[in-house]
Amino acid sequence: PCPKEPPKIHRLDQSVVNRIAAGEVIQRPVSAVKELVENSLDASATSISVVVKDGGLKFIQVSDDGHGIRYEDLPILCERHTTSKLSAFEDLETIKSMGFRGEALASMTYVGHVTVTTITEGQLHGYRVSYRDGAMENEPKACAAVKGTQIMIENLFFNMSARRKTLQNSADDYSKIVDLISRFAIHHINVGFSCRKHGAARPDVHTVATSSRIDAIRSVYGVVVARDLLSITAAENDPSRPVFEMNGFISNSNYSAKKITMVLFINDRLVECTSLKRAIEVVYTATLPKASKPFIYMSIVLPPEHVDVNIHPTKKEVSLLYQESIIENIQAAVELKLRNSDTVRTFHTQT
Ligand code: ADP
Ligand code: MG
Repeated sequence: PCPKEPPKIHRLDQSVVNRIAAGEVIQRPVSAVKELVENSLDASATSISVVVKDGGLKFIQVSDDGHGIRYEDLPILCERHTTSKLSAFEDLETIKSMGFRGEALASMTYVGHVTVTTITEGQLHGYRVSYRDGAMENEPKACAAVKGTQIMIENLFFNMSARRKTLQNSADDYSKIVDLISRFAIHHINVGFSCRKHGAARPDVHTVATSSRIDAIRSVYGVVVARDLLSITAAENDPSRPVFEMNGFISNSNYSAKKITMVLFINDRLVECTSLKRAIEVVYTATLPKASKPFIYMSIVLPPEHVDVNIHPTKKEVSLLYQESIIENIQAAVELKLRNSDTVRTFHTQT
């Protein structure tokens, strides 16, 4: 048969390109909340509050008391690839901030309606301005504002009907958002977090800044979780081997749950690491006779040049140099901790 003529290649419209890219960065409402909270953390906020309506599809608002955004920067704030955090590609090797790509806010304006209210130190009033498709919809308007920045996203995925429908039919994204804020809250204990449904009298997560990790875990996950945790640390200081430090809390043999909870931060980034999670589960099954699924909070710190943060569109995974060796080391620490604690079983007194 005679071969078909090749189809003609053409350049996509910029607006199509932007919307496709945005759909990868903002996969669901919880991804928008994660980006906004990380921006607040990058802005040195000490208090971050999240309000959500309709699982995030109608309305998401994140308010912080961080350093705010300069008036002069507002015109390009939501343009793609505009950032205050990165200049040269090489900076990625040492970057401390959560953000670096200047993609998040822009993405939100391609798949939703974004309104920013912000005030910087020493100003008498703040500014409010709305964005669509990367650009300001109008000139910023002077307005009353308290310290920091408030970002509101309305009608997320209004222009992506398939996405909107799947999300509307799927279980409420709100629980994913509560889970996310809970995780941030037990790591960033110097920041107070709150998360609530729009119109609800009580927040579902509420923490105040503290210096005690276990207090933070207690206030987020409850006393039943906090009382059954063991503090754990591990480190490799031998410079001929991959250097790292780990500290965290892991559940003891009294803890009981149907599902594993694994809260993992690597260099202060909330990430997932399936191989580490599996490795720890294996230790629990092997060490504790009637093993329950564990609760794990771990913070791992590595030389920044050993972590590649730029491998996933939502930054939910990072890749580590010497991953196997680090996992083995942590596995050994967990096993030792569980063995030692099992001999001194604790019994809870009834209250
Ligand atoms: P990135 O975080 O990768 O730089 P974003 O699109 O998330 O990109 O944000 C763009 C820029 O907007 C940031 O670099 C920062 O300067 C500013 N910004 C965003 N959110 C806040 C905030 N809550 N407080 C202060 N500045 C912010
Ligand atoms: Mg960001």
